[in-house]
Amino acid sequence: MRISNTAHDDKGDMGGDVGRAWAEVVSTARRTTADELVVGTSGNVSARVGDVVLVTPSGVPYDRLGPEDAVGVDLDGRQVLGELTPTSELPMHLAVYRSTDAAAVVHTHAVHATAVAGLVDELPLVHYMAGALGGPVRVADYALYGTDELAHNMLRALEGRTGCLLRNHGTVVYGASLDQAYDRTAQLEWMCRVWLTSASVPGGSPALLTLDQLAEATRKLSGYGQPRG
Ligand code: 13P
Ligand code: ZN
Repeated sequence: MRISNTAHDDKGDMGGDVGRAWAEVVSTARRTTADELVVGTSGNVSARVGDVVLVTPSGVPYDRLGPEDAVGVDLDGRQVLGELTPTSELPMHLAVYRSTDAAAVVHTHAVHATAVAGLVDELPLVHYMAGALGGPVRVADYALYGTDELAHNMLRALEGRTGCLLRNHGTVVYGASLDQAYDRTAQLEWMCRVWLTSASVPGGSPALLTLDQLAEATRKLSGYGQPRG
C-alpha cells in the first residue's frame, strides 16, 4: 500500500510515527553536512518504521527537504511513499535492515574515515570507543557506489559490528535510533582522525589496545552514563 505525504492526518497518510521519523531523517542528514561528514548531497540517511524504510532522496540538498519530500520504500525496495527517487545506496540500507535489528542507518564520506579506508583493512585499535561499534572496525572491499556488490562487501565487513569503512568511499553505521547511528558515525570518524594523527608523526607508531583490553572497555561502556530507568 502506498502512503500519501500530502495529507498528514487521515488514515493511510503520513503522520504519527512516519512523520516524526521523516523529520528526524532530515535533521540527521543536515547534521552530516553541518558537521562536515559529507559535502553537498553526498551520503544518505534512513530510518525504519515497521515495514517502511524512510530514506533521503538521491541528489537533493538536505536543506531543501520538507515534509512533502518524504521517501519511503518497503524491505524489497518498492517505493511506498513519495515521488522523489530514493538514494542510490538503497541496496546498502536495505541489506542492513534485512540482516540486523537496525532502526537507522547513516552513510557518510567523512574525510578521515575515507583516508583510513585507503590505508588498512581494519582500523587499528587506537581507542576503546571501537567497543561502541562492536570491535575493530573493518574496511569493506571497493565496489561501485549504489551496487548490490557494494552492499554485499559491506555486509561482510559488518559481521559482528555496527559500522564499517568502505574503501575509496566512506562509512556505514547503524543503530537502534538515528541519534545512536549518528553518534557512532562521529565516534568512528574521530577514531580514524586519532589514528591518522598519531600514525603520521615521523618515526611514531601508535600504541594499540589488545582485544582483551577492548573487551573490558566494551563491557564497561554498556553501563556508561547515567543509570537507566
Ligand atoms: P545519493 O545522493 O543517491 O544518496 O548518493 C550519495 C552517495 O553517497 C552515494 O554513495
Ligand atoms: Zn556514498
